[in-house]
Amino acid sequence: MTSEYPERRRRLAEEIASRKLDALVVSALPNIRYLCGFTGSNGLLLVRRDGWSLLLTDPRYEIQAAQEADCLVKITRKPLTRALPGELARRRLRRVGFEAGRLSYAEYQSLRMALRAPVRLEPVAGVVESLRLLKSDAEIEAIRRSMAIAAAAFQQSMRAAREGIRECELAAELDYQMRLLGAEKPAFESIVLFGENAALPHGKPGTRALGPGELILVDIGAQHDGYASDMTRMAVLGTPSNRVKRLYQIVLDAQSAALERLRPGITGGMVDAAARQALGRHGLAEYFVHSTGHGIGLEVHEIPRLGKGDRTRIRPGMVVTVEPGIYIEDWGGIRIEDTAVVTSNGCQVLTPAGKELLGL
Ligand code: ZN
Ligand code: ZN
Repeated sequence: MTSEYPERRRRLAEEIASRKLDALVVSALPNIRYLCGFTGSNGLLLVRRDGWSLLLTDPRYEIQAAQEADCLVKITRKPLTRALPGELARRRLRRVGFEAGRLSYAEYQSLRMALRAPVRLEPVAGVVESLRLLKSDAEIEAIRRSMAIAAAAFQQSMRAAREGIRECELAAELDYQMRLLGAEKPAFESIVLFGENAALPHGKPGTRALGPGELILVDIGAQHDGYASDMTRMAVLGTPSNRVKRLYQIVLDAQSAALERLRPGITGGMVDAAARQALGRHGLAEYFVHSTGHGIGLEVHEIPRLGKGDRTRIRPGMVVTVEPGIYIEDWGGIRIEDTAVVTSNGCQVLTPAGKELLGL
């Protein structure tokens, strides 16, 4: 993917120029990775309106930055916000944008204190994130591989699901399998919830043991080449009750309806409405407490949001999750989630796993 970095910075430079800025200070690590390949945990990337770029980092990353980043690198022992003003002054950069949503107040204050007179800091929001909205073929391939790893780990791990296993044990098995299969790490804390615990959309796996006839909710994703994947599947130990079977089918129909609606030209809100209406026909809309999906890429949650009233136009190259669910206190929850890429006339699901309620 190395060859894509200069082009990404060129597109960013156009954006910087169109905002009449001299340069932009990129502080969000996923944005830095997207623009120059650097994966360290401490860095600031200065991008000038002509595309010239400088990565500032500390001595721990001297070797790594030289290997990864395809732009100029400067190593400094100072806090990066203190080292930056000297670079701005040296290059006479005056109107300098910073990522308002991605810099802490303390970092902003530190940067401001170190600045000299003619430099003006201008807040900008979502500039690099907008470039990241449409994925290249190489990015889509990375997400596809990441998704394949998570799906294979799910298949492997469910063999360990038996009566008495605890949520945290099954979560550990999923994480272990993802790493064995080539993931850098899980893309987020794996969610494994049994029975009534599945009523918490983002519950944490604990020590609850699996009992007969109980539902299992597994929400996992892998990270591969920096790219995340995200899927949710359900299983049941033994024979599901009729209520479980009925509700599962309704959520599955809602998920299919949203995937069918997902195509270029419509809005994120329209995809969300497809799932919400399908649940509403069975009086279940009130139990669907989150949005239908989210963009995914270098981060697990990116734009666009497929939520109520969202007006973002869906375009080919967007990669999003589609994940309607219902959550009923003291009973449990059902969610079915795929990661899908928007194509020229619809979408392609990247999650290679069946969606029937898995019987164990
Ligand atoms: Zn998920
Ligand atoms: Zn998700």
